[in-house]
Amino acid sequence: MTTHNTASDAANTAVRAYLTSLGEQFLGHGFNTGSGKGKSIWTVIKKDDFESRCAYCGSDNTELGMEHLICFNRNDGGLHHPGNIVPCCKACNRRAKDQNKNEVDWKTHLNTIVVDRHGLSEDVAQQRKERIRNHILKYKYPQLTDDELAAIQTIAQAIYEGVGQEVRRGTELFWAIHKSIINKNRD
Ligand SMILES: [Zn+2]
Repeated sequence: MTTHNTASDAANTAVRAYLTSLGEQFLGHGFNTGSGKGKSIWTVIKKDDFESRCAYCGSDNTELGMEHLICFNRNDGGLHHPGNIVPCCKACNRRAKDQNKNEVDWKTHLNTIVVDRHGLSEDVAQQRKERIRNHILKYKYPQLTDDELAAIQTIAQAIYEGVGQEVRRGTELFWAIHKSIINKNRD
């Protein structure tokens, strides 16, 4: 539960709402993984497609959360869509960052986990990547061009900035009213 609600929290939520709405538009129906059809799809992905194992490290002895392969944020522009979600354990859910503090892509992340963290072979990493690629194809994640992806990221950035501006505008607006009321009462 958030106890300190910042403009940045609200802006990130708005960006995720946008990426959810776009994903659902491509999908042709709602995709709330907490209930109904969305929940059934997520259950099939988790239990059948990935056999209740973490898509990266392969652990089945853990609580599995939802991981967006292309990160679900304004920088990466990953959509909320069945083809972009896989089950993932808590340890693997924290995406590694590169030198520029950008989150690495899922293939690099998987390699780091399988080869570096768990000391398994490149072949194991390749097999797991292949499984995830098949998952993306099975659920027909939209094949976006670079231009389309750039457009999604630009719009997401505009939404992020817009929400921040609205919060600042609302604060300034009320402050102006507050001051004018104080001045009036003094007259
Ligand atoms: Zn894992």
